[in-house]
Amino acid sequence: MSDSLNNDQTCVVIGASHAGVNFAFALRKAGWLGRIKLYDVDPVLPYHRPPLSKAYLTSSDGIEKNALKPAQSYDKESIELNLGVKVESINRADKNILLADGQTQAYDKLVIASGARPFMPPVKGLDTASHLYPLRTAADVSNIKAAFEQSEKKRVVVIGGGYIGLETAASLKKLGASCVTVLERESRILARVTAPEMSAFFEKLHAQNGVNILTGKNVSEIITEQSVNQVVCDDGQMYEADLIIVGVGIRVNTELAAQAGLEIENGIKVDHCARTNDPDIYAVGDCSFHHNPHYKRFIRLESVQNAVDQAKVAAASVCGKEITYDTIPWFWSDQYDVKLQMVGLSQGYNNLVVRQEGDADNKFSVWYFNDDTLLSVDAVNNAKAYVIGTKFIKSGDKLDKQKLADASVEFKPANLLSV
Ligand SMILES: Cc1cc2nc3c(=O)[nH]c(=O)nc-3n(C[C@H](O)[C@H](O)[C@H](O)COP(=O)(O)OP(=O)(O)OC[C@H]3O[C@@H](n4cnc5c(N)ncnc54)[C@H](O)[C@@H]3O)c2cc1C
Repeated sequence: MSDSLNNDQTCVVIGASHAGVNFAFALRKAGWLGRIKLYDVDPVLPYHRPPLSKAYLTSSDGIEKNALKPAQSYDKESIELNLGVKVESINRADKNILLADGQTQAYDKLVIASGARPFMPPVKGLDTASHLYPLRTAADVSNIKAAFEQSEKKRVVVIGGGYIGLETAASLKKLGASCVTVLERESRILARVTAPEMSAFFEKLHAQNGVNILTGKNVSEIITEQSVNQVVCDDGQMYEADLIIVGVGIRVNTELAAQAGLEIENGIKVDHCARTNDPDIYAVGDCSFHHNPHYKRFIRLESVQNAVDQAKVAAASVCGKEITYDTIPWFWSDQYDVKLQMVGLSQGYNNLVVRQEGDADNKFSVWYFNDDTLLSVDAVNNAKAYVIGTKFIKSGDKLDKQKLADASVEFKPANLLSV
C-alpha cells in the first residue's frame, strides 16, 4: 500500500466549494483511506455558485436544492464537513492549521481551495450605501432577494458589466425590476473577455429586454439619503437606486498561502499536478495559478470546469499517481433566452471569424485565431459550434476560414478543414 493510502493519515481541505468538495470526493474515489476534513467559513451546505446569478436568483427554491452533494453523501464517504469555521493560518513547520476558535488541526496533506471574494472598489459612500451587495454567496442572494421584495420602486443599479453583473441584471429584470441600469467603466461590456462583436450583441440583447447598459461610466461616489442611493459617475451623471449590485471582479484568497510562505503570483503557484512549492500542500480552483500546456503559459481561471478537473488531478497526486493537468478551459453564461458557451482562451488573438447560422441573429459563433491557430470559440445558442470548436482547439487542425464563415457550408468538422 502506498504511504498516501495509509488510513492513519489526515488530508485537510481549506474551502468547501466546487474545488474543495470535488477534491474530497475524488480523493476518496482515488483510494485514500485516511481522514478527510473539509473546512469552510460559509455555514451553508456547499452549493453550486453559477445559478446564484441565474436560475436560483429568480426562483423561490431553498439553497438546499442547489447543493453540490446531498448532506448524507459526506457521511457515506466519511468526509468530515466543518461549516461556519474560518481557518486563520497554516503552520507548515508543525503541519497544522489554526482555526478561528483557537484549536489546531494537524494534517499530513493540505489542500487550499480558498477561491476568491468579491472586490469592493474604493468608492466614496460605498460602505454606507443602502442595500448594496456583491454576489458570491448564498447569503448575498438572500440579502438581494429580501431587499428587492421590500423595495417599492425596485430600481436597480449594477456596477460592472462583466458576466456576473449582466446575468444579475437579466435576472432582476425578469423578477420585475422597474429599472435596471448597468454602469460599466470600460467603453464596452465584457471588454476583458470577449471581442467587440460579442459585446455589441449583448448590449443589444439587454436593450431589447429593457436593461440600460451605459459604458464609459466610472462610479465615483454613492450618496444615500433615506434608503435611496444616488450612484454618481465622474461625468457628473447620477442614477437613483433602491438596490445596488457590485460586480467588478474578484480578489483571490491567497492570504493564508502567502503568510505560510508559499509561492504566489497571480494566485497560488502550483505545478502540473496542483502541488505548491511545499510537497505536502496543494492548491486547486479559482485560487490556483497553474500551467496550461496547451496555451504554454501560467493561467488562473474562474470556472467550475477548472475547479472540478484540477481537483481530480490533485486527488490523484495525493494518492501517489501523477497526472498532468491539461484541459481546454470552458465556461458558460445564461442571459434571458441566450446560452453562451465559451471554449479556450482568446487572449492573444489577432483575427476572428464570425459564423452566423441562418437568419436567426441570436444563433452564431465567434472564432478567435492567432494567425491560423484557433485559440477559442464563443458560441451563442449554438452547442454545435462549441463542440466543433473544442475538437479543433484540441487537435490543432487548421480551419478553412472562408468555409467557416460561409453558413451555406454544412457545419461539420470535415467540411471546415483547411486543405
Ligand atoms: C454568481 C456567480 C456566477 C458564476 N457563474 C459561473 C458560470 O456560469 N460558469 C462557470 O464555470 N463559473 C461560474 N462562476 C465561477 C465559479 O463559481 C467559480 O469558478 C467556482 O466557484 C470556483 O470554485 P472554488 O472552490 O475554487 O472557489 P470558491 O467557490 O470561491 O470557494 C472557496 C471557498 O473557500 C472558503 N474559504 C476561503 N477562505 C477560507 C478560510 N480562511 N477558512 C475557511 N473557508 C474559507 C470560502 O468560504 C468558499 O466557500 C460563477 C461565480 C459566481 C459567484
